Amino acid sequence: MKEPAGVYVHIPFCQRKCEYCDFHSIVVSDRQRFLAVVDSYLCAVQREARHYAHWTDEYEFTTLFLGGGTPTLVPPDRLGELVVFLKQELQLPSDAEVTCEANPKTISCSSLERLREAGVNRLSLGAQAFQDSLLHVLGRTHRAADVYASVEALHAAGFTNFSLDLMFGLPGQTLADWQETLEQAVSLRPAHLSCYSLIVEEGTPFYDSFLAGSLDLPGEDLEADMFELAQDYLTGVGYCQYEVSNFALPGCECAHNLHYWHNRPYLGLGSGASGRLGSVRYSNGADVEGYTRAWEKYEPFIAYQESIDEDLAMDETLICGLRLLDGVSDTAFFARFGCHLGDVYAEQISRLEGRGLVHYHEGRLRVTRKGLFLGNVVFSEFLRS
Ligand code: SF4
Repeated sequence: MKEPAGVYVHIPFCQRKCEYCDFHSIVVSDRQRFLAVVDSYLCAVQREARHYAHWTDEYEFTTLFLGGGTPTLVPPDRLGELVVFLKQELQLPSDAEVTCEANPKTISCSSLERLREAGVNRLSLGAQAFQDSLLHVLGRTHRAADVYASVEALHAAGFTNFSLDLMFGLPGQTLADWQETLEQAVSLRPAHLSCYSLIVEEGTPFYDSFLAGSLDLPGEDLEADMFELAQDYLTGVGYCQYEVSNFALPGCECAHNLHYWHNRPYLGLGSGASGRLGSVRYSNGADVEGYTRAWEKYEPFIAYQESIDEDLAMDETLICGLRLLDGVSDTAFFARFGCHLGDVYAEQISRLEGRGLVHYHEGRLRVTRKGLFLGNVVFSEFLRS
């Protein structure tokens, strides 16, 4: 049987850069130039996909994820063509989960209908917050009213499976704001919710404000309260927390991200995208023009690659798997590596159990509720080199 795997495509275009964002994306303001850049970029992605298509001999690609950037800035016909091409070229099954990230204000009922016809069956909408003042601080181009309008549009276009991205730990955000954001989000009945805490990344305007001492962050205790509030509130209204930051109605977990958390292979396409195929992990250069030019000559545009040995593969299986509330199964670990968790990680497990951060029970290693908030402490224990 072929090993299941995912396909990620990076669409690195945005209307403007948000104040906190360090993702690879560019802003092309001139419409004609933007359309020309998009055309040659998508052509390059298709060439790259064809280059890797032989991996279908080994893997069954079961999910496709269009991320960004803002994929929905691309004209829907062009994006739809790309989805159809990739599904065919990489032999995705007709019922494969195909997710497209979308930002409010960049979608309409007709654009979404086009995407649905092309095979997109899941949308991930970047709502972030429901207070216009916070959206303004974040530098988002949309306002709360646009989120409601987008959800109406996606329903009208026939989408039933959608996720909302939300952020907490924002400058000036109160616990009451966060409660309101959660309530408003839930009132829209998404199948899935992702709740991320703000990370102030170097090289962003937020980082400069942070250094200047003018970023009014909530502080660790309040941020911990916000995380707990999300856990309590969302699980109380029927969502299951299946990963540190992710909540889903039963059966609506994101199959694509589960590939990452199960440490399965994935093909990454596009400028700045990363992938892992076999024992090699690679990252493409984050340079739209360079990437496009390289593929005009049918040349891969890999900036970095490394080989993953068995020890690192084990560590990463633990680090990724412990993000899931279901944890890591010893049986699955043994089936993959031929040894038990206790053979390799007895010391780490006992140390973390002593601190109440993980729990090993009936052949499964899981993080505790306390461990969930201290994820990085837990994960770093399992990186042996
Ligand atoms: S829309 Fe997303 S990718 Fe684009 S700048 Fe904002 S956070 Fe970054």
